[in-house]
Order: sequence, then C-alpha cells, then structure tokens
Amino acid sequence: MAKQESKYGWNIETSYTQLPDAFYARVKPTAVRAPKIVAFNHELAKNLGLNSDALESNEGANFFSGNETLPGSEPIAQAYAGHQFGYFTMLGDGRAHLLGEHLTPDGRRVDIQLKGSGPTPFSRRGDGRAALGPMLREYIISETMHALGIPTTRSLAVVATGEPVYREKELPGAILTRVAQSHIRVGTFEFAVALNKGEHLRTLADYTILRHYPEIQGSDEPYLDLLKRVIDRQAFLVSRWLLVGFIHGVMNTDNMTLSGETIDYGPCAFMDRYSRATVFSSIDRQGRYAYGNQPGIAEWNLTRLAESLLPLLDENEEKAIAKAEEAIVTFGSLFESHWVEGMRSKLGLQDKDKGDLPLITSLLDLMEKHQADYTNTFRALSLNEESSGPLFQDASFVDWKKAWLSRSPVRTLMLMQNPAVIARNHRVEEALSAAVDRGDFSVMEHLLTALRSPFDEPANLTLRDAPPSNAADYQTFCGT
Ligand code: AMP
Ligand code: MG
Repeated sequence: MAKQESKYGWNIETSYTQLPDAFYARVKPTAVRAPKIVAFNHELAKNLGLNSDALESNEGANFFSGNETLPGSEPIAQAYAGHQFGYFTMLGDGRAHLLGEHLTPDGRRVDIQLKGSGPTPFSRRGDGRAALGPMLREYIISETMHALGIPTTRSLAVVATGEPVYREKELPGAILTRVAQSHIRVGTFEFAVALNKGEHLRTLADYTILRHYPEIQGSDEPYLDLLKRVIDRQAFLVSRWLLVGFIHGVMNTDNMTLSGETIDYGPCAFMDRYSRATVFSSIDRQGRYAYGNQPGIAEWNLTRLAESLLPLLDENEEKAIAKAEEAIVTFGSLFESHWVEGMRSKLGLQDKDKGDLPLITSLLDLMEKHQADYTNTFRALSLNEESSGPLFQDASFVDWKKAWLSRSPVRTLMLMQNPAVIARNHRVEEALSAAVDRGDFSVMEHLLTALRSPFDEPANLTLRDAPPSNAADYQTFCGT
C-alpha cells in the first residue's frame, strides 16, 4: 500500500513481499548507537522527489541507519544464490535490508536498500556490518559511473554508525543507502530453480517482466524475450565498462542484475595503464574477472540465467535448450556492436567503415605495448594534444594517427565521450584515508565535484594525472 509521508517525500510500497515467502526473510535492521550522515546525495534525493533538506537532518540519519522505519516499509533480506568464482552457493542479503520500493513523482519504482544494517538469516559467519571506507568507496564509484552515463545503482547516503566493526583491525562502521531499479540478480533465478517448487520460478520471471520489461508482457514467448533483453542490456553494460576502463572485480552471478545496472561495488577499480589483463582484486588470483575477460564472464553468467529459465522456455527440454542457445550465441555480436559503436564515438568517427575494428584494435595494441594511460590517451587525442609519452613517439602510432585523421574525426564528439577525470585508485584512497583516518570529508567532496562532471577539465588539474609510475601495484579488497 502506498503511504505518502509529505515531510520527507517517501512513497513506499513493498511489492517484493508479494512473492512467495521463500524469496525473502522478514527481518529488521539492528539499531546503531550514534548514526551521523557523512555523505548525502542531494541531487539524487531531488531526482527521487524526496525532501533533501529534511532528510539531511538527525531524522534522516535515523532512516538511513535503520534506527527508524520508513513509513510504509516492511524490511526484508532477499534470498538468492549465485556462482561465486564459478562455484554454486546459496546466498542472500547477509548485511542488507530492502526497506521497500519508493515510487517517484514521475512514476518510477526504485528499491531503497540499506547495506551494513545488521545480521539477517543469510549472514552465515558475517557480522552483518560494513566499514566506513568501503561504503564511501561505493558512494564515490557509483556516482562516477552515473556521471559517465553508465547504468548503475545509486548511493543516496552514507551514515557512520558510531560503532566499530572488526576486520583485520578495528574500523568505524557505516551504512550505505542504495537505490536501484531492483535487486533481482541472475542468482535470484538460480535460487528460484534450486527451490524446485511449483510455480516459484515463473512467479519470479513474471514479476521481473512486470518490473523491468513490461513491454513484453503480452508477447508469444515472454520468457525467451526476457532472456534476450537481459542479454542485450548486459552486453551494452559491459561494453560501457570497457569503454571507460572499469573493472568490476567480482562478476559473480549474484552480482549481475536483471535490470542491466552495475551493482555491488566491492573490489572494482578503474584501470590506469591499458592492459587487457589488469586485475586489482586481491581475491581474484587467477584473473578470472580481469578487465579483458569481462565480456566472456558476462556471457558465462548469462548462460547460467538461460539454464535457469529452461523450464519456462519450452515444455520440451530439447526445444528449450535450442531456444536458450539461440539467444546466448547472440551475446558476442551484440557486445561487439555496442563496443565498436562506443569506440567509434571515442575516436570521433561519425560514419561506419569496415576498417573501424582494425583501426580501433591497432590503437589498443599500441597502447598496451607502451603501457599508455587509457583515459589520458583518449583525452589527449580528443584535445589534439601531443603527449610526451612513448606511445606518441612510436612510428607505428604516427602511421596510425595519419590513418585516423584521414577519417576526419569530430573532436567535439570525442570530448563528450572521453572523460578528463575518472575515479583513479590513488585519488580514491587519498579521499578515503582523509575521511576514515582523520574525519576530513573535504578531500572526498572535492573529488566528487570533479567526478560529477567528468567531461569537463577539473578545477584541480592534477586530478587528471595518472599515478606516479613508481606507485606500488594497487589492490582492492572484497567483502569488507
Ligand atoms: P559480495 O561478494 O559483496 O557480493 O557478498 C557476497 C555475500 O556475502 C552476500 O550474500 C553478502 O550479503 C554476504 N556478506 C558480505 N559481507 C558480509 C558481512 N559482513 N556479514 C554478513 N554477510 C556478508
Ligand atoms: Mg553481492
């Protein structure tokens, strides 16, 4: 039931709780001692029709910590499963509470979820909590992705809890308020199959169609169409990641949405030097989720979705498999066409040409050979700047540039595609350590200001700089 709370603008419904009970556990956030808002997203609050001034108050801190229940909310932890690094596991929100769905004045339905808000029946050995650094990191990187025009969950607020969490050492605790089109994951479908109960899978699929793909409701083969649409949205999404040098870091099937939004900013990072093998995550020792592996992994995950949907695709198993395969084999060409289209824009090419792909890959090969900075190379080309780096001195690059210039690239187009600033690891770390170690949030605010207009030259020009070449190899950590 919708309830209007005019003071704050919440308009919460709880449609997910109408799914069979097996899909969630009713559980309330565990109250925290001294919640204090340390990051608040005014722009997002306004976009959602919320009263941002009223929310950025002590009462807002009570909502965003789970100390006070949102009007109309029925907190749950969602159940799901997932393939983690290739192995199937039963999972669920172990430290997150879905408060409900907020209906925006312009008719959108978005999940409001707290992350780090206490234990649930799915916590296993975890404490249900999150540390301040990783929650601020999700806030910064999800905002960066949004500003780059990439589909993503958003971050509305981070509150410090006033309580410690214990990891390798004692750290300040925090809770993130995440806003998403939904939290339905490939792993939610794997969970529905594992339940092996009557119509549960179909119920979930119908709910997903209603929520994300209402246009296919009346189609002859809605479940096949669902699969095809998710394949296309994910092919698009991963192409956007590659175009900006983003590495998700933990593309398990429980971290892949049916909506096509980027979700779960754990060990993710932006690449500095271009190399297809780049990995930052400390737990990804095999490089399964390396930069250049992401399209292949997306296809692998989508194959798990296709398998889950088989019972709905056709009564005849052979026919169902044939339909699923027919859909999955399109991933490669969909990905490539989205990616080439994006690269063409990055290179300012207005007309398609059969030489586009070789032109793109020969540039990337040269960048890899010279360990050129990914972001700054494209930006330098956009600005027609001669960089002093070794790439620009290479005779093969000079030839490449002649061939490229003969295609009359449009620099105004390039400047809207090639960011000047990305969330570079050394800058993110600097902002986080100021906030976490010294309680100084100004470094993060300055960084966020630049990241919110990534295609403009930042006031602090050094934010564009790659890390010093003697910087130690950066590592990111998961599940913290
Ligand atoms: P992730 O790798 O962040 O996608 O998390 C994988 C699973 O571990 C999810 O089901 C999380 O809810 C759970 N999890 C991660 N950290 C904690 C924690 N501190 N306490 C309980 N569960 C957690
Ligand atoms: Mg996850």
